[in-house]
Amino acid sequence: MICHKCQKEAGPEDSYCRFCGAGLGNNEVTPWYSNISLIILLAVFFPIVAIPFIWRNPQFSPKAKKLSTTACVMYTLFLIGMILYFFFFHIGKYYLQIYKEL
Ligand SMILES: [Zn+2]
Repeated sequence: MICHKCQKEAGPEDSYCRFCGAGLGNNEVTPWYSNISLIILLAVFFPIVAIPFIWRNPQFSPKAKKLSTTACVMYTLFLIGMILYFFFFHIGKYYLQIYKEL
């Protein structure tokens, strides 16, 4: 690959010219935070954390961003609800037993 700015030969894997520092235009190299599988993985386990990643990603349309943000918020509320339910109806029972025995 030839640098468009200084016309020197740059390596095929380089994202920046090693002589003048210009970007080499092959922007197909997506940054790690634009990785779709990473965003999906985040959305499954930490939906709130995935939201800024979705908004930074140019591959999503504004409509898709709003939709996925709504989905992430609802999923987070659902997860919080599940945790509270589990705590109060399962773990809470054991605390009640301990109090009764005291
Ligand atoms: Zn250059």
